[in-house]
Amino acid sequence: LGLDIARITSEHKERYTVKSEYGESEGEVIGNLRFAAESRADFPVVGDWVLVSSYDEGKVLIHKVLKRKNILRRQAVNRESEVQIIAANIDYAFIVESVNRDFSINRFERYITLCYDAGIEPILVLNKSDLINDQELIEIQNTIKQRIANVSLIISSCISNDGISEIEKFINPEKTYCFLGSSGVGKSTLINLISHKEILKTNVISELTQRGKHTTTHRELILLENGGVLIDNPGMREVGIADASKGLDQTFFIITELAHQCKYRDCTHHDEDGCAVIEALNKGELDADSYQNYLKMFKENQHYQSSEIEKK
Ligand code: GDP
Ligand code: ZN
Repeated sequence: LGLDIARITSEHKERYTVKSEYGESEGEVIGNLRFAAESRADFPVVGDWVLVSSYDEGKVLIHKVLKRKNILRRQAVNRESEVQIIAANIDYAFIVESVNRDFSINRFERYITLCYDAGIEPILVLNKSDLINDQELIEIQNTIKQRIANVSLIISSCISNDGISEIEKFINPEKTYCFLGSSGVGKSTLINLISHKEILKTNVISELTQRGKHTTTHRELILLENGGVLIDNPGMREVGIADASKGLDQTFFIITELAHQCKYRDCTHHDEDGCAVIEALNKGELDADSYQNYLKMFKENQHYQSSEIEKK
């Protein structure tokens, strides 16, 4: 039985598209894989490397998911304790927000937390810069930089093409990239510009009716001419945090540092005596909004952890 290595390029309700050196095929998982699967996490996701056998013209069976380098996951807020795997084997994530309605530094911090937790390098993209003036742009940039250190920030516009070449400079043929962000921020338009092809339908927002909207509903992996790989994601409204202590520690590294000096080891930095975090906050050494956002995510994370303990 000859098995080939292939990569999952799209997934829709257990129907997969895989790409191998022989081209693109439709794939489904074999019974054995299904039986052995203990949870959704054992099924293939976009970005996975898998072993396949072909059984028909353009059709393959997926036998095995190869060991993942990492998985990007989030907690679905509406469904209790359901952790969703977004994609696997990702090196970099472009986290896209637009300067208008969508802009939120809290959300940037959430996405960064998910990325760090998975060992993915985040890159912030602030799109639709054409919609505001230079002064507003500088202000928005400064606010981001005040709160988020050590993460690259690209200002872009699909109208003026600003920042597009900066995004392209990041793309290395050996690496896999994904685009994250709410629906309507311009992810598909950016991907189309970067790939120099019209691959993804863009989301034409009809302000009045919300009809005629082509939203990305499934994940898709796109191979670029230079060999780089992009993964597009459906717009995410909720970016829930679960089991992401490592990501929180890295994103809020200033708080993590301070926490070493708290009086109690299990300090929640809320209202405890001798809390070094609260002390820094009161002295104005810590950004108050960032601290509030941290507390909120810290609570979500704890909530997840305690519900996992209850299950056991
Ligand atoms: P996605 O849902 O994140 O993939 O967003 P789309 O790429 O579908 O874009 C949503 C809408 O925003 C479309 O009408 C695009 O034409 C528009 N758009 C995308 N990029 C820009 C930009 O840089 N500036 C402006 N003004 N509009 C943009
Ligand atoms: Zn503390």
